[in-house]
Amino acid sequence: MSIVGDNYLSVLDNVRRLCRESSRDESECTLVAVSKTKPVQMIRDAYEAGCRDFGENYVQELVDKIPQLPDDIRWHMIGHLQTNKVKYIVGKTYLIHGVDSVKLAKEIGKQSVKNGIVSDILLEVNIGNEDSKFGFSPDEITDAVNEISSVEGIRIRGLMTSAPICDDPEENRVFFRNMKQLSIDIKKQKTDNVYMDFLSMGMSGDYESAVGEGSTFVRVGTAIFGERDYSSR
Ligand SMILES: *Cc1c(COP(=O)(O)O)cnc(C)c1O
Repeated sequence: MSIVGDNYLSVLDNVRRLCRESSRDESECTLVAVSKTKPVQMIRDAYEAGCRDFGENYVQELVDKIPQLPDDIRWHMIGHLQTNKVKYIVGKTYLIHGVDSVKLAKEIGKQSVKNGIVSDILLEVNIGNEDSKFGFSPDEITDAVNEISSVEGIRIRGLMTSAPICDDPEENRVFFRNMKQLSIDIKKQKTDNVYMDFLSMGMSGDYESAVGEGSTFVRVGTAIFGERDYSSR
C-alpha cells in the first residue's frame, strides 16, 4: 500500500468511527480526497485504496486530470468558480460545492440547460463572517436560496462552508452546528428544487467535529496527500 493509500484509509477509518459515535450510519458521510496541486499518480494511489470521490479547486487542472483517470471517479468542484469558466466543467462534475453568487448559479443553470442536464450544486455560506472568505453570510442565505431555487438547470442539494482556520477542531464545532441548523431551517420551508440533503463541511484540521455535527461531505487534502506546494503556480 502507498503512503497516500494508507493515509486515505486512516482518515476514512476516523470518519466511519465518528459517524458511529454520533449515531449516524457510516454511509452518511463521504470522504472527498482533495487532490488540488497533486499529481495524477497520487490520485491513482488513493483510487487503488478505494477512494472514488476527489475534490479539485482549479478548472484547468480538473479538466486536465479527468481524462487521465478512471471514469467511475466522482469529481467535486470545491474551489471558487469564475462565471466565465463554468462552461468547461458543466457535465463533468458530480457536485459543484461553493456556489457563492446568484450570477454564478444562473450561469451554471444556463450551461446545464444547453447541455441537456441538471447540475447539483451547494451554496457556500461564510459561517464565520470572515472578510477573506467567499460565500453568502448566514443572514443572506435564505434569500439567496429562494432566488436561486427558480433557476432552471440546477438543483440546490445543500450548503457548503469552510470554517475558520483553527488549531483545535473543537473551536469550529459551533460553526458546524450553526450550518446544520441553517440547513434544517431552509429545508423546513419546502421550496421547490431545494433538497438540503447534502452538507459539505470539515477539512484536515477540523473534520472530526464536522462529522459529529452532521457533515455529509468532508473535504480532506493535506491529511491524505501531504502539504501542498504552490510555488509553481
Ligand atoms: C484545499 C481545500 C480543502 C482541503 O484542505 P486541507 O486543509 O488540505 O484538508 C477543502 N476545502 C476547500 C474548499 C479547499 O480549497
